[in-house]
Amino acid sequence: MNAPIVQPPAFLDGRPKKLLIGGKWVEAASGKTFNTINPSTGNVLAELAQGGTEDIDRAVKAARAAFEGPWRKFKPHDRQEILLKLADLVDRHFDQFTLLDALEMGEPITRRRNARRRVLGLIRYYAGMATNLHGETVENSAPGGDFVTYTLKEPVGVVGAIVPWNGPMVSWIWKLGPVLATGCTAIYKPSEEASLSALLLADLLTQTGLPEGVVNIVTGHGHEAGAALAAHPDVDKIAFTGSVETGQKILQASIGNLKRVTLELGGKSPDIVFADVDMDLAVPGAAMACFGNTGQVCSAGTRLFVEDKIYDEFTERVAAFSRTLNVGDALEAETQIGPIVSQKQLDRVSRYLDIGRDEGARVLSGGARLTDEGRADGYFIPPTVFGDVQDEMRIAREEIFGPVVSTLRFSDIEEVAKRANRTSFGLGSGVWTRDVGKAHYLAKALRAGSVWINCYQMMDPAMPFGGYKMSGYGRESGTAQFDDYLNVKSVWIRTA
Ligand code: NAD
Repeated sequence: MNAPIVQPPAFLDGRPKKLLIGGKWVEAASGKTFNTINPSTGNVLAELAQGGTEDIDRAVKAARAAFEGPWRKFKPHDRQEILLKLADLVDRHFDQFTLLDALEMGEPITRRRNARRRVLGLIRYYAGMATNLHGETVENSAPGGDFVTYTLKEPVGVVGAIVPWNGPMVSWIWKLGPVLATGCTAIYKPSEEASLSALLLADLLTQTGLPEGVVNIVTGHGHEAGAALAAHPDVDKIAFTGSVETGQKILQASIGNLKRVTLELGGKSPDIVFADVDMDLAVPGAAMACFGNTGQVCSAGTRLFVEDKIYDEFTERVAAFSRTLNVGDALEAETQIGPIVSQKQLDRVSRYLDIGRDEGARVLSGGARLTDEGRADGYFIPPTVFGDVQDEMRIAREEIFGPVVSTLRFSDIEEVAKRANRTSFGLGSGVWTRDVGKAHYLAKALRAGSVWINCYQMMDPAMPFGGYKMSGYGRESGTAQFDDYLNVKSVWIRTA
C-alpha cells in the first residue's frame, strides 16, 4: 500500500473536542468523552465530548434565547450575508473538511475533493433563498365588508437536527441551510461515528457574525443526546436523517409537544436495465449506483433488475467491473472504495453476505472481508455482486448499507414496475434504456422520491430529494424544503 497522500489536518490537534452551546465551547456536563475511530486503520482519531440530557437542555435554552433575541432582528439580507460568509470560509477550509470526512468515515479522499463545487453551490443556494421566501396576497370573497388578506411565512422556531455518518458534511448543510435562511435556530446532533467536520463547520460559523446560540452543536450518542433532543418540550421541529428504526423512535418521542418532524430514512432502491442499453455506459453506471461511498448511501441502487435477454452478460460485466475497483485506505490517491464506517457496520454487512449465500444467491464477485496486508486492521469489504437473487430473499428486501448489489431477472416492463415497487421503501430508483417511452412510463410508475434515467444519484441544490413510503417525508434541497421550517400565518384586515 502507498503512503497516505496528506498531512494530518490541523483541526486534529490532539485536544478533546467540546460542545458549542450559546456561542461558547464547553465540556459535557457529565465530563464524559468518547472516541471516534479511523475505519481505514482502526486507530483512535479524536476524543469528543459526550453530551447528554443536561447539555441538550442548555443548548435548547440558548437556541430559544437567540430565537427570541438578537436573531429576530436579522433581516433576510443579513441572513444571506451569514451564509455567503460561511461559503467563503468553507471554500478556504475545504481541504480540512475533505480530510476529516475521509479519516472519520472512510470516504475516499479523491471523491471528497470532487464534492467542493456541490457543497459550495448548496450553501450559496440557501443564501439566495434567504431573500426569496415570502407569503402571498390572496383575493377573498368574505361577506360583510371589504378585507385585505395576505399570508406571512414565519420561522417555525427551535429546530433539532439529527444526522447520520454517511455524508457528514452535506447532511449538516442540508439542515443548517434552511435553518439560517428562514431565521430558525438549531441544536445539531451529529452521528457519533462522524462528528468532526460538523465541529469544524460550527467553528467557522462562529466567525461569520452569527449571534450566540443560533446554532449549537452537541456531540454524543443517539440514545442519550439524540433521544433528549427528540423529546425536549421546547423544540419545535426535528429534522432527522437516519434509519427507519430511529425515525420511528423520534416520532414517538416527539408527541409530547407535537413537534413538526421531517424524516429522511433508508432505502432499497431499484435500478432497472433494459436490453437496448448502451452497456459501456450502463455497466459502470449501475455498479457505481450501488458501490459509491462503499454502498453507504441511502438511495444506493441495490436491487439491480436486468432484462432477461442480457442478464448473464450484463451481470458478468458488472462483476468484472467491480473487481477492477481499488479498495483501500481512504487517504490513498488510487482508492475508489474506502472502508465500511465501523466494526458494527462491518459485522452487519458480513452477516448479509452469509444470509445471501444461505438463501441460495450466487456470488459473482467479492463476498468476503479483505484482511490482506495493509487492510487487516481496517473494515474492508469489496464490491459484491449477488446473482440469481429472488424477490423474497432478505438480501433483496432489507437495507444492507454496504457494497452489496442483488441482481434480479425481469422480462416485461409492467412486471418490473410492480416488482420494483413491492418494497416498504421509496427513496431512489434508476432506469437504463434508449427507449424514451419506457423511460417516461417508469418515471411515472416508480413509487420513489427520485427517478434517475441513464444516470444515477444526480443531485442539485434546486432539485428536491426525499422519500415515499417508509423512506420518510419532507424534502432536502429545492423550494419544497423551506415550508418544513416555516409557519404560515393568515392576516385579515377590514378596510371598509
Ligand atoms: P441511525 O438511525 O442509527 O442514526 C442516525 C442519527 O440518529 C445519529 O446521529 C444517531 O446518534 C441518532 N440516534 C440514534 N438513536 C436515536 C434515538 N433513539 N433518538 C434520537 N436520535 C438517535 O442511522 P445511521 O446508522 O447513522 O445511518 C444509516 C441510516 O441512515 C441508513 O438507514 C440510511 O439509509 C439512512 N440515511 C438516509 C438518508 C436520506 O437522506 N434519506 C441519508 C443518509 C442516511
